Amino acid sequence: MATLAPLVPHPLGLRDMNRLRVIESIYRHPGCSRADIARWTGLSRGTVSAVAEELDRVHLIREHDAPDEAVRPRGTGRPPTLLSLVPGAAFAIGIDIGHQHVRVTICDLAGEPIAEKWSRAHVDDAPSETLDLAHDLARQVLDEAAVASERLLGAGIGLAAPIDQRTGEVKANGILPGWHGVAPAAEIQDRLGISAQLANDADMGALGEKVFGAGRNADDMIYIRLSAGVGAGLILAGQPYRGGYGMAGEIGHVCVQPSGQICRCGNRGCLETVASPIAVARLLEHVVERPMTPDQLFDLLAADDRGARRAVADAGEAVGMVVSWVVNILNPELVVIGGDLAAAGDVLLDPIRASIQRHSVPGAAADVHVTAGVLGDRAEVLGAAALILAQSPLALAERVRS
Ligand SMILES: [Zn+2]
Repeated sequence: MATLAPLVPHPLGLRDMNRLRVIESIYRHPGCSRADIARWTGLSRGTVSAVAEELDRVHLIREHDAPDEAVRPRGTGRPPTLLSLVPGAAFAIGIDIGHQHVRVTICDLAGEPIAEKWSRAHVDDAPSETLDLAHDLARQVLDEAAVASERLLGAGIGLAAPIDQRTGEVKANGILPGWHGVAPAAEIQDRLGISAQLANDADMGALGEKVFGAGRNADDMIYIRLSAGVGAGLILAGQPYRGGYGMAGEIGHVCVQPSGQICRCGNRGCLETVASPIAVARLLEHVVERPMTPDQLFDLLAADDRGARRAVADAGEAVGMVVSWVVNILNPELVVIGGDLAAAGDVLLDPIRASIQRHSVPGAAADVHVTAGVLGDRAEVLGAAALILAQSPLALAERVRS
């Protein structure tokens, strides 16, 4: 295996640096041996053992045997003792704020969710009320998990709007109407008293599926979120990619019908106006002669309604066409379809696949695999927690130092 480069360049002393590299190795490869760490980091076995002893003393790591000794080759003697982080040594909060819900989770260092709460909410015009709700749910989750605040690494927040990473402000004229200029991370930081980081919800969905779900083995992956908001999160060369200012992946506002409906972003015929579950359900209103909700759309799909299937299939075709442009530009190996509409399954996925095949350059189309996400509506909140966990080695190394 290649030598591990440090995740973050920073002005640490040699001893601090060694500690960070050992923690990073154990974080990335739970159940590794001291010899593995020495090989990956280039540190001597003695240095690795000394650092491991220190980390054991402060209860940050634990020693354990291989889970299945039967896999050990015969005659190789005693197996090495393996090292893992103590899952309960630190925790991360994930917060997902969609157009119509708020969801909060708390995960331990191993990424295991300990407690989770969610609530429906009218988010679009109510930033203060929504942030208060997120704070209330986080407090409930902390109480249920019985986690002391000093064990919290921070809170990651996914929000259904473009985020300017330079300022941390929502850039959302129309998309999240009442939130333009609000800085949600600072607001959550004030309410919870812990550091918080903000990102777009589709970016968090991509991270969730990459770390915990369908994208575990993919280094180049697009995650498409088809919910009340439509967007994409990108993982390129194994790393999240958010663009120069944090707004990469806004495929929901790419034009697919030049003469289509005016979109809430102010443009016309955006993908979101044809492929959000709300837009798809609306197509059936004149047939059933009543207002249609996404839940009623899914009821019709379950009853194998021909019109509902056609409406979802046409949405899939439009999604596939937009994805084909991304496939030509980025040549991903995996496209993960998430968000509420993903529950439609192959009725949605097959037209997406066909459309990608039809509109992409053959070489790129042949290699891309299209699948539904495995985390469902929890992808974004788990990704938000993963955003904080990914930075845990540095935070933990600094805690041990101090
Ligand atoms: Zn739009």
